[in-house]
Amino acid sequence: MTGASSQNVGPIILLGPPGAGKGTQAKRVSEYYRIPQISTGDILREQGQRGTELGIKAKDIMARGEFVPDELMYGMVADRLRQVDCERGFILDGFPRTPAQAGWLDAFLEHEFFDNVPRSKCLPVVIRIDVDYNLLLRRIAGRRSCPVCARIYNVYLQPPRVADTCDHDGSKLIARDDDREEVIRDRLQRYEVQTRPVAQYYERKARLSAVNGEMPVERVTEEIIRLVENSRREAVGS
Ligand SMILES: [Zn+2]
Repeated sequence: MTGASSQNVGPIILLGPPGAGKGTQAKRVSEYYRIPQISTGDILREQGQRGTELGIKAKDIMARGEFVPDELMYGMVADRLRQVDCERGFILDGFPRTPAQAGWLDAFLEHEFFDNVPRSKCLPVVIRIDVDYNLLLRRIAGRRSCPVCARIYNVYLQPPRVADTCDHDGSKLIARDDDREEVIRDRLQRYEVQTRPVAQYYERKARLSAVNGEMPVERVTEEIIRLVENSRREAVGS
């Protein structure tokens, strides 16, 4: 696939549970269009490193193990989206997490972002990556890595030739604590409860599309790009 690096792409929002490949897809689509991939984790890290007022506040809050409040997050997201590399479009990963955040984002785009960019308004294309619950469990719970060469295996989907042993150097493979099945069930459940309202927010506005995340990585990317192109064509036609 060749990229499209001059096209106006507009905002893209990817939704999907842990293990659905959201991060991978965000990276691939970002490379295809040459637009930045923006995650709240990166924003927080960057603001912290720059030592901005918002960044310092957020750092203190996270150090206490609390969530960064929306008002603070909005300031940082707005700051990031105002940067010149976002002009042609951007991909949000991990934001918005609540309908309130989605509402804020719509208002920000509508009343500030588009006004400063010499082009027509295009609302976010929202794409949910769907993967069957049991496959997600296997994808994450089956994950093993080699402590020596960092190769990744999956006991269900991509097993090593000899159980628990790295094909490359014979080291004993390890599982991360975060990848234990009960931890994952809990994470998936929290994700579902938290994110469903966001999906519903966009569904009500008829802006939610879904892709089958069980297809090979390349196919999922193609499908996402097709959905983005379709929605932009509709926007031009309307
Ligand atoms: Zn190894």
